[in-house]
Amino acid sequence: MISINLRSVIGLASIALAVTGSSAHAQLRIVATTPDLASVAKEIGGDRVNVVALAKPTEDPHYVDAKPSHIVTLNRADALIEGGAELEMGWLPPLLENARNSKISAGAPGRIVASEGIKMLEIPTSFDRSRGDIHSLGNPHFMIDPIDVKIVARNIASHLAQIDPKSAATYNSNLAKFDAKIDAKYAEWQRALAPYRGANIVTYHKDFVYLADRFGLHVVDELEPKPGIAPSPAHLAEVIGKMKSSNAKVILVQPFQNRRTAETVARQSGAVVLDAPQQPGALSTTSTYFDMIDHLVNGLAGALRSQK
Ligand SMILES: [Zn+2]
Repeated sequence: MISINLRSVIGLASIALAVTGSSAHAQLRIVATTPDLASVAKEIGGDRVNVVALAKPTEDPHYVDAKPSHIVTLNRADALIEGGAELEMGWLPPLLENARNSKISAGAPGRIVASEGIKMLEIPTSFDRSRGDIHSLGNPHFMIDPIDVKIVARNIASHLAQIDPKSAATYNSNLAKFDAKIDAKYAEWQRALAPYRGANIVTYHKDFVYLADRFGLHVVDELEPKPGIAPSPAHLAEVIGKMKSSNAKVILVQPFQNRRTAETVARQSGAVVLDAPQQPGALSTTSTYFDMIDHLVNGLAGALRSQK
C-alpha cells in the first residue's frame, strides 16, 4: 500500500513539474545579479519574463556567497543582467564559467550590462588593486540614482526586444510606463529632500555617491578608508573630527555593514545611524525599486530633520 501511495505521489509531482515547466517555458528566464536589477527587469518584462536574483537583498553585492544552485540557475537562463563595472568581479566569473551557457556569454544579446551608458563617477586616474580598492572602473553603485535607472531600464528593454522580438512592443510600452512612473516619483523625492540640500552625511562604504550627487547632499567621508577596506581606529578618529567640524549628523549603513562601528562613531560625534538598505526586499515593506527609494528618501529626510 505504502509503495502504491508513494508512486502516485511521485506521479502527481512529475505532472505538477511538467505543468509548471511548460508554462514557465513560455516566459523568458532572466537572472539578475542583485535584487535592484531584478526589480527593474520585472517592470520591463512584465508577464513575459520570470526573474530571479542571485544575491540576497541583505548581501553585499561585491561579496555574494556563491552556491551550486546559482550555477544551475545561470545554466538555464535566457538572459543575465549584471551591474558591471566590476561590481560582481569577486564572485560571478567562476559561476559563469561553470554554467556553460552561451546565451549569456559576454557580447551575446542575453548578456545585459547595466553600467553601459551610465556616466560613471569616481573613475580612478591610477589604480592599485594591491591596496585593496575594489572600485577599479569607477563607482559601481549607480542603481541608487533613480535617473540613471532609466538608462538601465532602456538597456534591459532593448536586449529583451532582441531576444524576444515578438514581445518587443510590450517591452517598449512597459519601458514608457516605467519612465513615467520614475518621473512622477522623482519630483516627489526631490521635494522631500529639498529642505536638506547641502547637508553633510557620512556613509560606511562609497555606496551613496550617486544619490548624494542627484539630491544635493554632501558625503563628508566614509567609515571605510578605501572601498572594501575595513575601518581602522586611526581612520575613524579622523572621520569623527570631520563630522564634528562639518556638522555631519547622519551615518548611512546597509544591512551587511558593521552597524556597531557606525554606532560607536555616531556616539562620539553626536550623530545618528540610519539603516539604508539599497536592495528591494531587504525589508518586508520594500519589495520593489520604487518602495526602496521611497523608504530611503523618507528615512533620510526624517533623520536630517531630527538632527537639524
Ligand atoms: Zn562598492
